[in-house]
Amino acid sequence: MALIVQKYGGTSVGDLDRIRNVASKAVAEHKAGNQVVVVVSAMSGETNRLVALVDGLSRFPNLREYDTVVSAGEQISIGLVSIAVENMGIKCRSYLGWQVKFITDSTFSKARIREVEGFRIRRDLDEGCIVVVAGFQGIDDMGNITTLGRGGSDTSAVALAAALKADRCDIYTDVDGVYTTDPRIEPRATKLERISYDEMLEMASMGAKVLQIRSVEMAKKYRVPLRVLSSLEEGTGTLLTEDSEMERVVVSAITSDQNEAKLTIKGVPDRPGIAAAIFGSLAEANVNVDMIIQNVSENGETDVSFTVSKREYQLAMNVLDEQVKKIGARSLGGNPNISKVSVVGVGMRSHSGVAQRMFSCLARENINLQMISTSEIKISVVIDEKYTELAVRTLHEEFELEKSLADRISA
Ligand code: ADP
Ligand code: ASP
Ligand code: MG
Repeated sequence: MALIVQKYGGTSVGDLDRIRNVASKAVAEHKAGNQVVVVVSAMSGETNRLVALVDGLSRFPNLREYDTVVSAGEQISIGLVSIAVENMGIKCRSYLGWQVKFITDSTFSKARIREVEGFRIRRDLDEGCIVVVAGFQGIDDMGNITTLGRGGSDTSAVALAAALKADRCDIYTDVDGVYTTDPRIEPRATKLERISYDEMLEMASMGAKVLQIRSVEMAKKYRVPLRVLSSLEEGTGTLLTEDSEMERVVVSAITSDQNEAKLTIKGVPDRPGIAAAIFGSLAEANVNVDMIIQNVSENGETDVSFTVSKREYQLAMNVLDEQVKKIGARSLGGNPNISKVSVVGVGMRSHSGVAQRMFSCLARENINLQMISTSEIKISVVIDEKYTELAVRTLHEEFELEKSLADRISA
């Protein structure tokens, strides 16, 4: 008997037929003799609707209350899935995050899971129940409801799988696996049979929202056997592994992220402690910073550009407005209409020339690069948002990702 955690995203529970479909998949595993825990997201569009309600009232809502509102969608879907399972003759119990319990820190709207108490779930499983758990939410030490950031149900599922020492964690979604790029942008993208945790980590952090980055971090840390597969079609999906064939190709995926915004501080005095003051004030306001670029200093002054999430853009601007005056910098500017496009590949470690190929390819399309950042296994550029799809498609073609992996390895 295996213990299986299944996670279903918003589209997979988008209407009552889909909910019946989820129930029957859970019941099928149960009837095959396995213990099944189902983690679900809110019905598709529901969390966006709740976020819009909050935004309609306030530009800077109290984030404790934001979490109270946006966590509500999952309560409906767990109850509905549970009813659908019981209709199929199997005992089922649904639980909210605080009931089972996902204990998190108090960083409202993007809390981190500290611990998962699984004993209530284990007891129900031993009684022969299917257990349905709300993703995306938890509770802090003070008893406040928290949420894990958009896409956080993936992380709930992996955390639960780790805590319960599950034999498998299956992430069911609206695509049948992880692709060389978002198949909704480039229909010629190819599905990957396997991908390494490291590579998936890089893809997730560069914007491939098929898995939330924290879920991949956690799967890697606790060695959770993770698969991504479709809730609507049969198939084996994509398996996450310690290493993969990808080592043998230079570029394995293209990602894009339209959820970031760029800020630039000009005329920053070039002396020790200034970067600490700028980024310290953002950290204090709980704003996550992604890419950072500082120019070579001229006449004792430098420019600093960096990106933050679009949702935190206005907050970052407000925080820095004061800080810029304090440190004596010349000006603060920003642009929310940007996107980050990245080329990812573990094989890049041992190959040169990828950056040059990427830049010339984008230059041929007249796409201007506003920022560049590299790591051992990825190169990212910030460009004007309106060129995102064009950039993704041309890079996908440049690195011949429409070809099968076997063809690319032998080439
Ligand atoms: P869910 O609601 O099931 O959590 P998400 O919308 O969060 O689903 O994630 C699935 C989506 O991720 C797909 O519909 C696809 O558009 C997008 N996506 C982005 N990059 C990739 C990729 N490399 N492979 C597969 N899907 C991707
Ligand atoms: N419902 C949440 C969201 O839309 C969590 C998730 O889907 O994973 O972000
Ligand atoms: Mg998701």
